[in-house]
Amino acid sequence: MAKDTLEREKGVAIIGGGPGGVGCALTLKGLARDRGQDIRVVIYEGKRFGEHYNQCAGVLSHPLEEILEREFGLKIPDAMIQRVIQGYVLYGEKEEIVLEEDPTKPSLAVQRVELDRFLLNEAVKRGVEVIQSRVTDVEFHPHEVVVYSWSGTCRASAVVGAFGLSKAMTACFSRRVGYAPPPHLETLVTKFYPPPSWLPNLLENMIHVFLPPFPRTEFGALIPKGDHITIILAGWNITTNEMETFLSLPKVKRLLPPKGHSDFFKGRFPTGLAKRFYGHRYLLVGDASGLVRPFKGKGINTAVITGKSAAITLMNHGPSQEASLHYRDMCKELMEDMIYGRLARTLASLTRRYSSLDPIIREAKRNEGLKEALFFCVSGHAPYKKILRNKAHLKVLPRLLPHLLGSFHLSRQ
Ligand SMILES: Cc1cc2nc3c(=O)[nH]c(=O)nc-3n(C[C@H](O)[C@H](O)[C@H](O)COP(=O)(O)OP(=O)(O)OC[C@H]3O[C@@H](n4cnc5c(N)ncnc54)[C@H](O)[C@@H]3O)c2cc1C
Repeated sequence: MAKDTLEREKGVAIIGGGPGGVGCALTLKGLARDRGQDIRVVIYEGKRFGEHYNQCAGVLSHPLEEILEREFGLKIPDAMIQRVIQGYVLYGEKEEIVLEEDPTKPSLAVQRVELDRFLLNEAVKRGVEVIQSRVTDVEFHPHEVVVYSWSGTCRASAVVGAFGLSKAMTACFSRRVGYAPPPHLETLVTKFYPPPSWLPNLLENMIHVFLPPFPRTEFGALIPKGDHITIILAGWNITTNEMETFLSLPKVKRLLPPKGHSDFFKGRFPTGLAKRFYGHRYLLVGDASGLVRPFKGKGINTAVITGKSAAITLMNHGPSQEASLHYRDMCKELMEDMIYGRLARTLASLTRRYSSLDPIIREAKRNEGLKEALFFCVSGHAPYKKILRNKAHLKVLPRLLPHLLGSFHLSRQ
C-alpha cells in the first residue's frame, strides 16, 4: 500500500524531535517493517536535549508507559523515573482536598530532556535519520515538499510538523498553507531546591494545584521532582511579579523551603485547535495542531498519539489533501472533547474569579461522584465530555449552586 501512495524513497521529513515527531517516526518505521518495506524518515531537531532547557514538568501520565511499550516496544528505564506521583492536592481559599491516583496507574516524574533524548536515540536505532539542525522554510509542490534547514535541503514526499509552538515554523506554515497556530496560555516556571532531608517525601509525592484569584492567572502548580520542586504558573501576560505574589501566598509558602528559587523560564501550551493543521503533503501533530486537552495537558501523551495517527494516515492513504482528511477523522475524539474542555476551563475560571472553590471541595469530601469529577478534571485522566455529561457528576449541581451563588454574592460585596 505504502508503495502506491507514499513515494517511499523520498520518504517523510519530520520537523521536531519531541514526542510528537518521534511517535510519528517510530510508527512509520514500524508499519513499513511489518509490510516488509523500508521508508526514509528524517527528523530535524534544532535542540541538543540536555544542553537546552525544556520547560515541560516531565510528568508522564497514565497510559503513556503502556502506549510506549505496546506500540513501540519501549520501556522507560527505571533510572529515568525520579518520583512516582501519588495524586493531587487541590486548594480552595480555606479548604483543600487530596485526590489520589489509582496506585496501579500512577504518574511518573522524569526529567523531560532525558525522555526526549531516550526516545530520539531509540528512533536512531530503528533507522530514523536525525539531522541536528533548525528548519527554516518548507515549500509545497504538486509531487513533493522541499525542506530547507541550516544543514541543507531535503526533498520528501510529505512533511510532518511536530514543532510545538515554534514561532518561526508557525510563521512559515501560515505563509505557505494558511495555518493558524492554536490559542495558548503562557507559563512561567521556576524551581526550588530543598535540603536533602526533604527529598524522600517531597510534597508528599503529590502535585499541589491552586486556582489563585489573580486576574491574569489561570492556575499554579507545585510538582515534586527528583531533587527539586517545579513551580508552574499559567495565564495571560504573566510576569515575574505574578510569580512572586503566588510564591508569597501563605498556603504556597508553607510548602516551599525558605531558600530562594532558581531562574524563571517562559513557555506556552495550547488551549484550542489550530487552523489548517492538515492538507496537501502535510500533517501537524502534537502541540502544533492544538490537539491537546485544553484544560489539563497530558501533552506528551497526545503528541505521541497524534504522531502515530499521522504516520498511519501517510502509510495507509498517502500524502494528498484528500488523504489528510483521514488524519482529521482519527483525531475526532480529541477534537470533540475540545468544547467540553473549554467549558471546564470557563467554569474553573468563573469560580476562581467570582466565587470560591471551597463549597465544591466541601461537597466533594462527602460526595464520591464529585470527588471523582474533580480528580478527572485535575489529572486529565478522562475526556471532559465524560466528566461533564456523567449523570452522577451532574446530580450534585442543585446542591452546589446555592453555595456557589452565595460565595459569588460575598465576593462581590
Ligand atoms: C510549563 C509546561 C509544563 C508542562 N508539563 C507537562 C507535563 O508534566 N506532562 C505532559 O504530558 N505535558 C506537559 N506539558 C505539555 C508538553 O510539554 C507538550 O504538550 C509536548 O511537549 C508536546 O510535544 P510536541 O512533540 O508536540 O512538541 P515539543 O515537545 O514542543 O517538541 C517540538 C520540538 O520541535 C523542535 N523544533 C521547533 N522548531 C524547529 C525547527 N524550526 N527546526 C527543527 N526543530 C524544531 C523543538 O526544538 C522541539 O524539540 C507542559 C507544557 C508546559 C508549557
